[in-house]
Amino acid sequence: MNPSFRLGRVAGIEIGINWTWLIVFALIVWSLASAVFPEQNEGLGDGTYIAMAGVAAVAFFASILLHELGHAVQARREGMEIEGITLWIFGGVARFKGMFPSAGAEFRIAVAGPLVSLALGIAFVAGAVLVSWSDAVDGVLAWLGYINLALLVFNLLPALPLDGGRILRSALWGARDDFRWATQIAAGIGRGFGFLFIGLGLASFFWGYGTGGLWLAFIGWFLLSAVSAEARFAEVRETFGGRRVGDLMVRDPITVDASQTIGSVMDDVVWTHRYTTYPVVEDGRVVGLVPFRRIAQVPRAEWDERRVRDCMLPLDEVPRLRADTPLEEAMMELGDGVGRGVVLDDGRLVGLLSVSDLIRALQVGGGT
Ligand SMILES: [Zn+2]
Repeated sequence: MNPSFRLGRVAGIEIGINWTWLIVFALIVWSLASAVFPEQNEGLGDGTYIAMAGVAAVAFFASILLHELGHAVQARREGMEIEGITLWIFGGVARFKGMFPSAGAEFRIAVAGPLVSLALGIAFVAGAVLVSWSDAVDGVLAWLGYINLALLVFNLLPALPLDGGRILRSALWGARDDFRWATQIAAGIGRGFGFLFIGLGLASFFWGYGTGGLWLAFIGWFLLSAVSAEARFAEVRETFGGRRVGDLMVRDPITVDASQTIGSVMDDVVWTHRYTTYPVVEDGRVVGLVPFRRIAQVPRAEWDERRVRDCMLPLDEVPRLRADTPLEEAMMELGDGVGRGVVLDDGRLVGLLSVSDLIRALQVGGGT
């Protein structure tokens, strides 16, 4: 889930919002202002309900963010790299780079988020019960307590990719030291819940219990697609069998210079080598990647004016790998986007790796 907008950084971790979250935000404000608060706290004005709904939705957003920050901060303590946190339609996702270093680490990272939700839920409920505020403040606090505890219970279902599924997987993984088997079991339960939610959701929708059913079915569908991604990762990891980028990359690939004209690339490089992609260098450093497709799109009349720099993908849009990166992690890095990455050692180009190299290795490694 990629962020559509970036909000900034908290504790050095980048926070982003996917556009789907805006829909949820609007839906929450609307349903709180028009139904939940008017039923729960009768006799307040429309303006009050809208203000309550706005404050509650923003605080809910902050609660989800804190839950994900709990995962992210713990992950960093375990030595994992964190790409950032994205808020989207079903809440938040902390995006980690790579694999959990151990079963214990996955367990501690998975538990950290729910612990934050538990603390928030208790704090909001205590604030509503123990302190006497105005009705409006009380209503907002009570709803925030309820929603954080509901989120906690949902997240603790033992279904991958939910936190409870990760807790279960890490426990099984630790018990038998078999990551693939542990993933299969947790993924199986995840699929079960996915189908259950879809079934219950559709049934309650068709029996006239309203659009809440569709929401549940949608969550079920999300679980199913996320769980198959988890299961695939475990399979891929098994098939690559601990091999690393350095075992598979093309060493010392043919490069082109950023200042070269397209004409000279065509004459000197493309006709003799015919690779699909060339790393671009400038003053001995890699500055980007140029797919042949992009060179070929330049009209012949412009070959002498246009330079490689004008049609390359700049380095910050290109996946950067290291020779010791495990192949399953490289697969995730290369999976979306240009499908190719440069392999660097201290900023120096040492190789090139493409998704098709990885797929070929999977077919060979995976047998028939
Ligand atoms: Zn979580």
